[in-house]
Amino acid sequence: MTIHANNPSLKSWVEVSEKSDFPIQNLPFGIFKTQMLTPRVGVAIGEKILDLYELHKAGFISKYDFEESIFNNNSLNDLMALGKDKCRKLRDRLSELLSIDCEELKESVHRGKVLVNMKEASMLMPVRVGDYTDFYSSIDHATNVGVMFRDPANALLPNWKHMPVGYHGRASSIVVSGTNIHRPKGQTRVDETQPPIFEPSKRLDFELEVAFIVGKSTNIGDAISTAQADDYIFGLVLFNDLSARDIQQWEYVPLGPFLGKNFGSVISPWVVTLDALEPYRVAGYEQNPEVLPYLQYEGNKNYDIKLEVEIKPEGGEGKIVSESNFKYMYWNMNQQLAHHTVNGCNVNIGDMMASGTISGPEPHEFGSMLEIAWKGTKPVQMPDGTERKFLNDHDFCIIRGHAEKDGIRIGFGDCITKILPAK
Ligand code: MN
Repeated sequence: MTIHANNPSLKSWVEVSEKSDFPIQNLPFGIFKTQMLTPRVGVAIGEKILDLYELHKAGFISKYDFEESIFNNNSLNDLMALGKDKCRKLRDRLSELLSIDCEELKESVHRGKVLVNMKEASMLMPVRVGDYTDFYSSIDHATNVGVMFRDPANALLPNWKHMPVGYHGRASSIVVSGTNIHRPKGQTRVDETQPPIFEPSKRLDFELEVAFIVGKSTNIGDAISTAQADDYIFGLVLFNDLSARDIQQWEYVPLGPFLGKNFGSVISPWVVTLDALEPYRVAGYEQNPEVLPYLQYEGNKNYDIKLEVEIKPEGGEGKIVSESNFKYMYWNMNQQLAHHTVNGCNVNIGDMMASGTISGPEPHEFGSMLEIAWKGTKPVQMPDGTERKFLNDHDFCIIRGHAEKDGIRIGFGDCITKILPAK
């Protein structure tokens, strides 16, 4: 399959700097508004947003028969529902219109109206998330946690290499980058000789994750195979799965994460299509023991996406505390979706499925403060002389991610979380 919009030789007449996450080969979808404009679908290009509602009204994409309401919309759900073929045609057409060789839009009177400065826009939640699932698919992360809290000799639980372990999270508290999150309060029992107490979490952590968005629904009873899964994954966002370790530690037995996890998860605003990431496929870890037939797959299903996390105190200098990569996933997205639906569980357009914390094998690649500071025993030194074992009030936690090859950089834009004191 050739995706025309991915052609690395394409250039745009819209200025795109070398370090931009949004060259013409990316064209991620999002929802934005400005002081003048109501929420609508946009596509990122350089420092600009292409306003698809205005572009459609001006007739530039009329040959594809889109309803105006697809773009005059506060989520991408209706666009995704049109299917991957149609979304691919749309992305190809946008690529053509933005290409330096095409004068149609470049020389048009509408040019000024359809391009909005990113600086003047607010990004909104790109999708209406119906259900949210969080996996636990990084072997280095799962091993680190097992070593810390259980038995170094048997760090992975017996099921871990046989299925992509996950839990059902909460969709209501998934918010877009730039939304401030208050430190959660809850029950903790750090001292096991004492009764539990109620207090603001003292161990507030980030989790470096990538989430995929389901772009096609299934009926209850149906399963998605690993081979079919690509068709059900519309695109990806960066995902900060904030976690209160002290609340989590006391509450999680026997049913798993609850209030330690559902007070806020923050996503990057642009949905990078799986199509745009096609050139960055790589092989995953070898899976040994061999997995059951419904989890077997063919081809490269991992993606080489560099990830980093910066902690930056308000008004102060930041520090990169993690440099990981999405390629470190032991279980790929196709396996996650196949496992999720193998029992007949249906999925819906807009469902969000997060990877679980993505750690690499090296300490600088760990994807949470729990691991980076190793349960608080190796605090991180900040440029201002303070230490971090977990996140402080007024810290910004910024996740970034991009894939890069042949001089083309496909990025996500920043996923920014600011921690406010407990309410
Ligand atoms: Mn998580």
